Amino acid sequence: MYIETIDIRTSSRDEMVDITNQVAQAIRDSGIAEGVVTVYVPHTTAAVTINENADPSVVHDILAGLDKAFPWHQSYYRHTEGNSAAHIKSAIVGSSVRIPFQNGKMLLGTWQGIFFCEFDGPRRRKTVIAIQ
Ligand code: ZN
Repeated sequence: MYIETIDIRTSSRDEMVDITNQVAQAIRDSGIAEGVVTVYVPHTTAAVTINENADPSVVHDILAGLDKAFPWHQSYYRHTEGNSAAHIKSAIVGSSVRIPFQNGKMLLGTWQGIFFCEFDGPRRRKTVIAIQ
């Protein structure tokens, strides 16, 4: 197994950062031609997902939809840090994705990209890329 950790600096509270190229680079660095790459986010207020990276309005709409479903302020939140919405979004979106690759290339669909999802930024974040 080959593991690489990348640093991500986010610039707003809610943001989706396209990390497809960094994951592709990690696969090249690994020298492994065929296998599965796991992209894992070790944070409780961030996540990772695969979605469209062609039309940027898709990212806008995903973030807007999550914000509407899980507003920043709710009278029933108990978590005193005040970022319960970010924890909920992180739980819903998930902390890892797995993508098979062949001949060194991920088998992503034409419109798919891998996104680091920030829900309580701006912050310095990490993402783990594990290749096997
Ligand atoms: Zn918290």
